[in-house]
Amino acid sequence: MKYVFGPVRSRRLGRSLGVDPVPLKTCNWNCVYCQLGRSRPMVATREAWVPAEDVVAEVRQTLEARGDGIDWITFAGSGEPTLHAQLGWMLASVKEMTEIPVAVITNGVLLHDPEVRAALRGVDAVLPSLDAGTDALYRKVVRPHPEATFERLVQGLTAFRQEFTGYLWVETMLIRGLNDDEAALEQLAHVLEPIAPNEIHLNVTVRPPSEPWVAPPEAAALDRAAEILGRVAPVVVPSGRGVFVLDEGRDPVEQILEVIERHPLPERVLSEGLAHLGEATRAALFAQLEATGRAQRVERQGEPSWVARSAFFS
Ligand code: SF4
Repeated sequence: MKYVFGPVRSRRLGRSLGVDPVPLKTCNWNCVYCQLGRSRPMVATREAWVPAEDVVAEVRQTLEARGDGIDWITFAGSGEPTLHAQLGWMLASVKEMTEIPVAVITNGVLLHDPEVRAALRGVDAVLPSLDAGTDALYRKVVRPHPEATFERLVQGLTAFRQEFTGYLWVETMLIRGLNDDEAALEQLAHVLEPIAPNEIHLNVTVRPPSEPWVAPPEAAALDRAAEILGRVAPVVVPSGRGVFVLDEGRDPVEQILEVIERHPLPERVLSEGLAHLGEATRAALFAQLEATGRAQRVERQGEPSWVARSAFFS
């Protein structure tokens, strides 16, 4: 499969079938915490990055072959999905073919564009990002394309909330020493209030961040964030670990590649998911993974992680 991956077990969305409508790091942000490496170059134009018909055909084929037990179909993956010019058509086509709820994980900055808001209006959940309550901090955390301004992000989120009747779950990545102090959190709460999300999901880096200095907040800072942002909406705190589940019927190397090309994972997490295979088989699988030329092992947060070969992590 080229555009569909998983299902992966997601803390927020249960067994989630991923749909990836853009090539690796097609993004208008270059977040310091990005699990996909650096955006080189950043992209701000909406284009038909991959054939929309092929994406929809893969979703249909996957649902026919192994659609049981999927909780959500989630558009996300290698970059910013709203940069695909035919996202609205793809989402509508998938909604027509199944009762399974559809979610879009987005940085949200293109929601200022009425066409993008219309594209997302019919889905069941949208998960935009908001990591900062000021322009200066926003630029430090997500290092946006010049067109992807903080003002546009906030305007777009506010306008979308007024039009969208589904679930709006704001994602906030907390980074130690950057956006986890009380003043930054109060400013964020202030900006979030009129947006009125249904939930706020606090995240910490459990996958290798783009920048090696990025670290998760102390437990006390996480508690403080939950308390301050909890005044705006119910807060979901991170579980602190990723999960990899092997589907016994399919090639394990291909399955690992499908996941790590969109959601890089610490080797520890992969090893837990492969524990039943024994140490020698696991080591052989990691060697095969490297031999495909599609994966690389990088050191982040004091441990090795597996990421796409083409991602920039150096
Ligand atoms: S985390 Fe998402 S929005 Fe940020 S650079 Fe990576 S793909 Fe883009």
